[in-house]
Order: sequence, then structure tokens, then C-alpha cells
Amino acid sequence: MDVFPGERQGHCQSILQTVGNTPLIRLNRVSERLGSEVFAKVEGFNPGHSAKDRVALYMIEKAEREGRLKPGATIIEATSGNTGFSLAMVSRLKGYECILTLTSKASGAKLRLLRSMGAKVVVCPSEVTPEDPRSYYSQAARLTKEIPGAFYVNQNFDPANADAHYYSTGPEIWRQTGGQITHYICCVGTGGTISGTSRFLKEQNPELTVVGVDAYGSVLQKYWETGLFDEQEIFPYKIEGLGKTIIPGNVNFELIDKMIKVNDRDSAFRCREVALEEGIFVGYSSGAALQALYKLKNELKPHHRVVVLLPDHGSRYLSKVYSDEWMEEQGFSRSVRHSTYSTQLYRRYRVGYRRLYHKVNHYLRKYTS
Ligand code: PMP
Repeated sequence: MDVFPGERQGHCQSILQTVGNTPLIRLNRVSERLGSEVFAKVEGFNPGHSAKDRVALYMIEKAEREGRLKPGATIIEATSGNTGFSLAMVSRLKGYECILTLTSKASGAKLRLLRSMGAKVVVCPSEVTPEDPRSYYSQAARLTKEIPGAFYVNQNFDPANADAHYYSTGPEIWRQTGGQITHYICCVGTGGTISGTSRFLKEQNPELTVVGVDAYGSVLQKYWETGLFDEQEIFPYKIEGLGKTIIPGNVNFELIDKMIKVNDRDSAFRCREVALEEGIFVGYSSGAALQALYKLKNELKPHHRVVVLLPDHGSRYLSKVYSDEWMEEQGFSRSVRHSTYSTQLYRRYRVGYRRLYHKVNHYLRKYTS
């Protein structure tokens, strides 16, 4: 069943009819470089510019069908980005109030974006644990208790998040690849996208390899590998939407065959690269997914058909990865653009060693002649 048939022939009844049915685009330069067929599922084509439109629309309509969401009710969610915008858009069109709790990490532009769709925004401190009563999770839970008839979306734990992708993204990719997909690369945040899509695709072909993408600074990869929640893994990072400091119920770890961690620098340069090489303008986590693809390159063969899901559009990152000043502030220098940390370290040592060698040589020549 395809829950978002998408109307592209006649006119649409509202913007909501344009959710889903995003294009699958061959990445020509990337395919050439890696020697495999690589395709991007470009979720920035959704009306709210991210895959979260699917989740917001599906979860709200499911709650309506089940009578959990009454006319005029308030929709509440703890979200720092895309889900908030999509929920605000759907709420606006369906006549609901929308309150979003965010961390103080969110930029002013992000707050304006959410308010432009009529959402009320509550900014909470970012430096507190999820259990702290001041955290954006706790604040959302408090508001849900206090406001009569409020509906807490709870994208981290409500399985309807993954179902949105099981019923839309999965069937679309299967159809668009003619069932030929061999590898699926997908970012992991709440886990909704990877779990729902992979569940559908693996039902069609259990041999499919699913690759989860996580960020350095997140707990997910270690948990997938060892089953342990390791607080030592947590540190601040810049990529948005990717990785977690909690284990969301929506991550179905059993569906993931491999998990790759990526860093801020390489992911940022991959965003810029895909814009220049393929003309596709995507967000920071899309660069992360592409970086994971490159990390997988030794395993890829000419007959492989790889689909990389690119979660959102680049317009939300103009003051970040697409700003030269921001890149410089982060210390993301061009000369080390595609190297891993270990090669960067090696280069630094080599430069240091060469300098030392020249100095020693200089003194030896001076004092032995
Ligand atoms: N990238 C971006 C930009 C996102 O907003 C999200 C959602 N948090 C993700 C990746 C991860 O998707 P999911 O929550 O479905 O795991």
C-alpha cells in the first residue's frame, strides 16, 4: 500500500498531497568514482524539504483515525528541526495548535522558520540531561500533561514514525529500483527512516545490506555493536538530525547490517561536493550519508546498486556548511578535505618529522664542517 500516492498529473487538493514520492536520482560522478551504481533518494523534494513530512502527516492522520486527536487540539513535540517544521505545516492546514520544544542550540533562523508556519516555540537549555525537568523532552511531557486533549507525537518511541516509511519510502525505493537495490545507506536519528524503510525492503529481499550512519559523539553505533549504552561516547558534534544521546525505541537494530560513524568535517565537505558535482543541494546529514558511502567503497562491486537516502534540503544550512566563514571557524581546511582523521594525523606527524629532520641536518652541517 502506498500511503502517499502523490498527485503530479492534475492539481493538488492541498500542499499535503505533495508529500512523498520523491525522486530517486542516479549520482553520475559518484557512480563513476566508486565503480557501482549509486542512487540518491532526495527527500528535500518534500514540501517541507525533508523526510519528516512523511512522518508528521502519517502520525497525525493515524491519531485522527484512532480518535486520539480531536479537532482544535494541540500537537506537541520535542524536536530541534525538521519534524517541527513538518508538524507545524500539517497542523496549520488541519487546524491544530502546534507547540515545539527546542534546545538553545537551535539557531535564530530555525526559530523563525518554525514560527513562519505558526508554531509556538519553547526554548530549553541544551546542556542538561534528557531526564532533567528543564530538558526539551521533559518540557514537552509537562506541556502534554497540562494542556487538555494535547497530543504528544513522541517520534522517538511511537512506532508510527517507522510505519510512515514502511508504507511510503520503502515501497517507493523498491519500485524506483525495479527491486534491484543491493545496499541501502541511511542516517539514524530517531530510527524511523532506517527501520521502516529497511523492514519493507528486507521483506522483499532479505539479502539486502542495510548500512546505518551515525555521528561521532552519539551512542548508537556502540549500542548496535555491544548492546551497551556508553555515556563515554557522548560529546558535542555539529551534524544535525543524526545520532542520539538516548536509545530511541524506533531504532530496530536487528535490521542494520553495518553501522558507520562519520565526522563533522568530512560530512560538511561531502555536502559541498554533491552540490558542485551533481547539482543536488542537500543538508548536513546527507553529506554524512555520502561520507559513509565513501567509507564503504572497498566493499562495493560493479553489479551493486546502492541507494543513499538524503534526508533534507540544503537551504537550512546556508549559514553552516555552505558558509566559508563557518567552515573556517570550525577549522575545516580544504587541504585535508577527504582524508580521515588517521591520515590527517599521519600528515601532521610527517610534516613535523620533516621539519625536525631539516633542523638536525642544518646543525650537523653547521658544526661538522
Ligand atoms: N537527518 C536529518 C536532517 C534529520 O532531521 C533526521 C531526523 N532526526 C535524520 C537525519 C534522522 O532520521 P530519523 O529520525 O528517521 O532516524
